[in-house]
Amino acid sequence: MRPAPRQGGGSPRRFQLLAVLGAALVLTVFTVSLRMPRQKAMLEDEFERLLNHQHGSAGSTACDCSHPTGAGGAPLYCHLGLPPSDAAAAGGSGGAAGEEGTGSQQQEGAAQQEQAAVREAGGQQQQQQQQQQQQQQQQQQHRLAVLIPYRDRLPHLTALLAALRPYLDRQGRPHDVFVLEQGDQLLFNRGALLNAGALLLAGSSYDYFVFQDVDTIPLDKGGIQYGFPKGAAPLHLTPHSVHPKSTFEDFFGGLLIITAEQFRRINGYGTQFWGWGREDDNLRERLVRAGMWPPEYPGNIPHKASLLSKRSYFEHQKHVQAVELRAAEDKEGKVTFFEENPRVPYRGAKIMSSQPQFLKDFATGLNTTAFQILSIQPFLNATKITLQLHCNTTATPWCQPAVIGKRQAPPVRHAAAVHAVSGAR
Ligand code: UDP
Ligand code: MN
Repeated sequence: MRPAPRQGGGSPRRFQLLAVLGAALVLTVFTVSLRMPRQKAMLEDEFERLLNHQHGSAGSTACDCSHPTGAGGAPLYCHLGLPPSDAAAAGGSGGAAGEEGTGSQQQEGAAQQEQAAVREAGGQQQQQQQQQQQQQQQQQQHRLAVLIPYRDRLPHLTALLAALRPYLDRQGRPHDVFVLEQGDQLLFNRGALLNAGALLLAGSSYDYFVFQDVDTIPLDKGGIQYGFPKGAAPLHLTPHSVHPKSTFEDFFGGLLIITAEQFRRINGYGTQFWGWGREDDNLRERLVRAGMWPPEYPGNIPHKASLLSKRSYFEHQKHVQAVELRAAEDKEGKVTFFEENPRVPYRGAKIMSSQPQFLKDFATGLNTTAFQILSIQPFLNATKITLQLHCNTTATPWCQPAVIGKRQAPPVRHAAAVHAVSGAR
């Protein structure tokens, strides 16, 4: 920013004063911009470009997500499709993988030469230090996008945001935080929101994601590392032994770290899981199918769950237990959808989302995630993206709250979930 031009011919004293004021102003702007959350800078110089970015693989159509409505006011759903396939071919994740790969190869070459010199000098300790530094450098080259699926839990969100960025900064991790808010009237769809986040960031330099539930705050005591997965499988941060609310051994919910490339390969989450639960069970099936099972686990966690372990790694913010969608058919063959606490006995009604055609659904995913961006705003130290999801109401009519009734007594004749969706997609 430049100081305002001088009007007319003032005295040298006045000029000096103006110059000092100008310099002070420039300094202030510079300092403020240094302090400005990284997120703001990201929004300006990268995210806008991504929003208007055409996902260039053949056959995909351009989608300008920055405009909420299409021609004649018709909703325009962003359907960005898969990231460009050449991003994967570049041997990494996301569009910037090629650049990062080249950089890291050069660094590796230089580091190897240095290592040889150190060995000759017989300095084993130095060599170890060097290896550590090298590891750290490689770790720092990865960029983490924190994706938070979100609706209507403001106190949780503010508490999480206040804690999470400092926590990740203490780990020295380059990261940014994206709150994916569902801004429509449909039932919540955690998987579709996370897919939308991944699609919006495809082609960016974020090469891995953490799917971060808003109510689960990492604690310094446990010190769980949000590192880039070391092997071929994602990293499950919240196995049974550390997730505060998990009640069973093979729990796969909660927080997951996955590379952009791994997520692209499994086509993301299935998109038919409207309402609470089971999108994680479906994701497990996808990982098994893609040879990415079992996941990695954080290094320093206990095998067995205990009260202490469940309190040391994460704090879980309290909320009312979610309800789960069920379907029942009455004597006349009418199907009713209703919601019930998952801990309440089923009484013959089927849990929609646990039906095999959903659990084993591999057809929906990133490719069927359609949404409209309602707004993008800086929010505290994060970027909040409010989305309107698209629901295929033929395939999954229960995404609409109006379709969901009250539990009917007497109990059902038999479960109806399979009828309700047969042939529909
Ligand atoms: N969520 C939300 N609003 C909702 C439902 C879910 O923000 O109305 C998000 C939030 O990030 C939450 C996650 O989805 O942590 C999982 O939902 P929930 O906590 O209800 O399920 P739980 O894991 O406790 O069974
Ligand atoms: Mn929860």
